[in-house]
Amino acid sequence: MHITMIKKRLRNGEPCAKCAQTEEMLRRRGLWDRVDEVVWAIEGEADSPGAVVGRRHGVDVAPFFVVRDEGGGETVFRSALQLIRTHLSQAPVAVSRTAGLPDGPDESPGEGADEGAGEDWVALAAELSQRDPAGILRWGLERYGERCTLRFEGAEDVVLIDMAMQLGLAFKVFAIDTGRLRPESYRFLDAVRNHYGVAIDLYFPDASAISELVRQKGPNSFLQDGHAECCALRRVAPQKRALRKFEAWVSGRRKDQRPHASPDLPVVLQDPEFVGAKGPIVRLNPLANWTRDRVWAYIEEKQVPVNELHALGFVAIGCEPCTRPTAPDRPEREGLWWWEGAGEGADAVPAGDGI
Ligand code: SF4
Repeated sequence: MHITMIKKRLRNGEPCAKCAQTEEMLRRRGLWDRVDEVVWAIEGEADSPGAVVGRRHGVDVAPFFVVRDEGGGETVFRSALQLIRTHLSQAPVAVSRTAGLPDGPDESPGEGADEGAGEDWVALAAELSQRDPAGILRWGLERYGERCTLRFEGAEDVVLIDMAMQLGLAFKVFAIDTGRLRPESYRFLDAVRNHYGVAIDLYFPDASAISELVRQKGPNSFLQDGHAECCALRRVAPQKRALRKFEAWVSGRRKDQRPHASPDLPVVLQDPEFVGAKGPIVRLNPLANWTRDRVWAYIEEKQVPVNELHALGFVAIGCEPCTRPTAPDRPEREGLWWWEGAGEGADAVPAGDGI
């Protein structure tokens, strides 16, 4: 199922009030993540993407929603509450139960809800942290199989793919193509695919949202007002879409990894940022307790494929405009969003690891 919200933007660039209220209502109910795509109808522009969708469905007021099912059939919802009752009533409430509107759906997870409900995640993390990364990964893959996905991006992720291959258990891999990656990263992706013979599902940003941002602010708005908005569209939204198909995911994050250093990073938790197929998604951080040196020792020992950019001095691997080489032993932060100032705002990226 794919949900598109058609919103109206006024001539002054602001969204219409009702569209903003509808989005806010979905956010309060923890359902905004379920909207896959936003298409804008621009006031007075009959050829804007949202206006075209409206004409196709005979709808002339915004907001409205188009739900596409697996067979390609489309259903239009002029009412957000009707959409919730029909398709979203088993979604988890991610933010606040007290903020729900009257006349809303039953917000408790129904049949098929997360099998980890009631799990003591703190105790489980304490138990699993006694294991090595491969042991933690084994636990996840044995429990979730292909309902678990690894996210591929950097050196840590290939270490985890290598471990998963050694385990011989079923798993999935996805990656995000932000549209701003360096050529070396595409070659790296190909190298990993070929080395392990694994399929890597690529997820892309929503074209209309990017087009709207670029139209409003140009292609490099992050240099003026920070990376959060661009990252939210290019990195976080596709990741949300990818993870909604799974019940667990595996991240290569380490406790000591800048700019996301987190001394308390558990090896397993219910992810506070993302939602999965049956509600809260489980996140595994098998490398939480490894250092960068330990990761690279594994890479050298196992001859794991690496991104050519590392040899050029890149520590942070990601989008071309936002990463640069750093001198050895300098903080990783210096190679990432450096124009925003070291430290300050470094953890402002909305979600995900690395970039
Ligand atoms: Fe945009 Fe830079 Fe974030 Fe990439 S890293 S999504 S280019 S702000």
